[in-house]
Amino acid sequence: MVNGIEIDFLPVGEGKHSGDAIAVRWREDDQYKILIYDGGTKAYGADLVEHVKKHFNSHYVDYLVNSHPDNDHAGGLLHVLENLTVGQLWMHRPWAYSNEIRHYFHDGRITNDSLAERLKQKMSAANALEKAALERDIPIHEPFAGSQIGIFTVLSPTRDHYVHGLVPQFEKSPELKKEESTAASFFDMIKEAAGYVADMWDKEYLPDTVTTSAENESSAILFATVGKGGYLLTGDAGIEALRACADFASSIGIDLPQRVSFVQIPHHGGRHNVSTETLNMIVGEPLQNTPDQPSRTAYVSAAANAPRHPKKVVTNAFLRRGFRVGQTKGRAISHFTQGTPKREGWGPITYLPFYEEVEE
Ligand SMILES: [Zn+2]
Repeated sequence: MVNGIEIDFLPVGEGKHSGDAIAVRWREDDQYKILIYDGGTKAYGADLVEHVKKHFNSHYVDYLVNSHPDNDHAGGLLHVLENLTVGQLWMHRPWAYSNEIRHYFHDGRITNDSLAERLKQKMSAANALEKAALERDIPIHEPFAGSQIGIFTVLSPTRDHYVHGLVPQFEKSPELKKEESTAASFFDMIKEAAGYVADMWDKEYLPDTVTTSAENESSAILFATVGKGGYLLTGDAGIEALRACADFASSIGIDLPQRVSFVQIPHHGGRHNVSTETLNMIVGEPLQNTPDQPSRTAYVSAAANAPRHPKKVVTNAFLRRGFRVGQTKGRAISHFTQGTPKREGWGPITYLPFYEEVEE
């Protein structure tokens, strides 16, 4: 029997660079379980350790999860692993698949070992994490669709898509044999516009032509049900992963739009990770009118000084679907259900308004 859940988003990010550090605790029968989903950049590992000791009163983390190997997510986890006792580490090990993917690459001199080595070097934080876990005999599991991490089910990526679709595309991987998709680079080249345009409740403009990196699309998406609530953690997933996540969820009988009561807005509220179509698939369609009292919650990790994280147009999209939206921006925010322990010093969250003007 699972009772109560607390989801804490710690602030990550000097300057404009955002990251994720999320600590989750729930009660199973008489025991608390702790899951950490990403650790921010290296500097934030110490904050996570302090958080677990102070607010969860524990030195033990049941599940340490890395959504994807980018440094703003993997960086802080090493410190957690070195300074707390960890039950299981959940992370992808892209370098383990060299023999399965080597034939995608043009360069005949690439061997299994050299490909693995290049991936390890380029994803140094994730690789250091793996090494540290191996040294300590901490079991490492890969979060593929269908895996169970405590109360959470992994909804994306599937192993097959990860190995054959994503790893060969990692921009940090050696060059691909086939010509690169020009779509991605074209959209990447479009600079952030400086202007603002009007936005209205009943008119959404979020095209499904946006793309993000293969690393981001490899984010392990997690979903848990506690009581009537459904909790969705998305990492830096883009529309491809969100679509796959919705499909996988319905294949195992989870109606995400009906079930999701809490969601992590993907990729720090970036503009290139959500579309109207994918949002409809994971959290449902826009409501006709502004609800008096939003019944669902969306959190976003955004650096204090990131001027455009989260994007206003993305915030509006979640508000339209009946969410109240909270952001870190330099302070920790906590979402918790009834029956969880009271905490000192956690003030109310200021939720974001619907913006009449959004980035062009
Ligand atoms: Zn990120």
